[in-house]
Amino acid sequence: MSRYWSRIVHELTPYVPGEQPKIDGLIKLNTNECPYAPSDRVLQAIAAQTSADLRLYPDPQASSLRAAIARFHGLRPEQVFVGNGSDEVLAHAFMALLRHDAPLLHPDISYSFYPVYARLYGIATRDIPLRADFSIAVDDYLQAGGNGGIIFPNPNAPTGMALPLAEVERLLAGNPDSVVVVDEAYVDFGAQTAASLIDQYPQLLVIRTLSKAWALAGLRVGYALGHPDLIEALARVKDSFNSYPLDRLALAGAEAALGDTVWLQQTRERITRSRTQLTAGLQARGFEVLPSQANFVFARHPAHSGAQLAAQLRERRILVRQFARPQRIADFLRITIGTPAQCDALLAALDTLIAAQPPAAR
Ligand SMILES: *Cc1c(COP(=O)(O)O)cnc(C)c1O
Repeated sequence: MSRYWSRIVHELTPYVPGEQPKIDGLIKLNTNECPYAPSDRVLQAIAAQTSADLRLYPDPQASSLRAAIARFHGLRPEQVFVGNGSDEVLAHAFMALLRHDAPLLHPDISYSFYPVYARLYGIATRDIPLRADFSIAVDDYLQAGGNGGIIFPNPNAPTGMALPLAEVERLLAGNPDSVVVVDEAYVDFGAQTAASLIDQYPQLLVIRTLSKAWALAGLRVGYALGHPDLIEALARVKDSFNSYPLDRLALAGAEAALGDTVWLQQTRERITRSRTQLTAGLQARGFEVLPSQANFVFARHPAHSGAQLAAQLRERRILVRQFARPQRIADFLRITIGTPAQCDALLAALDTLIAAQPPAAR
């Protein structure tokens, strides 16, 4: 606290990212990064940048990358906005499209950055509880009364559960008067994208990232797809904040990545195969595992506290994510799908913990 702080800074509750410690031999399954290296083409494209290029500012419109993204999705460049990670794109969407008098609706169990942005921009929110089985109930959004927008991840995080495209469309059809943001950070691991609905629903904004499926969390590239009017709103906020959110290396690397769809397909298959195996391994050890369409699973053991298991795994140099709140998910572990060897190491560590420890008092 300082008397130099603005009033808004006193009132902020910043998001706490998953830890990124420097520990040798750490098995890092806590922030949903890809365990495999990105396509070789990414580094080649970055290396091809010369110091003469770096002397100059990057393209403020990111025209070439936006055209590549548009081609990838069968859309037009005016339907694409790019930002420094999808977190930045989300922040601009809150400011540009979701800040209205009525409350923003989002699931009670969801990406915990949403309430942080809402606070930063002074947006009232309303939590809509997930069903008992942790699925999103579209009717609850349609019956909530007026709203200033709706946002949810699909697949949801941290549950990993996907909403079928028909349900997303039912939400759009029933909610024409405010923006619906579908955060598709994990869509490449098995869910259906809403990008196909963009020409039909002018209130739909789909947000994607290269951090998860494309193995480029360190490059910081995210983007939004939507009607040109929505994209223009994002660009107006961006150009009131930072004209060059993507540097030349990120622009070149991201465009090269999108050109290697073979890499994407292979990596997706490796991750989903490991997900099936890890799910079976956890279930065999008594865990309840929610049906995941993401590159992580959300699992709880009926006899062990989530916080305790996460701490004990950490002592064994395995990091997973556990959320103390809401209470309903406190006993779940969110475990990123690692390599087969990392998944095996996790299961072996759980064997020692679950066999050795008496059930925690609950
Ligand atoms: C990881 C994640 C993001 C942010 O990704 P960036 O690295 O900022 O592109 C956004 N939404 C959800 C739900 C995520 O899990």
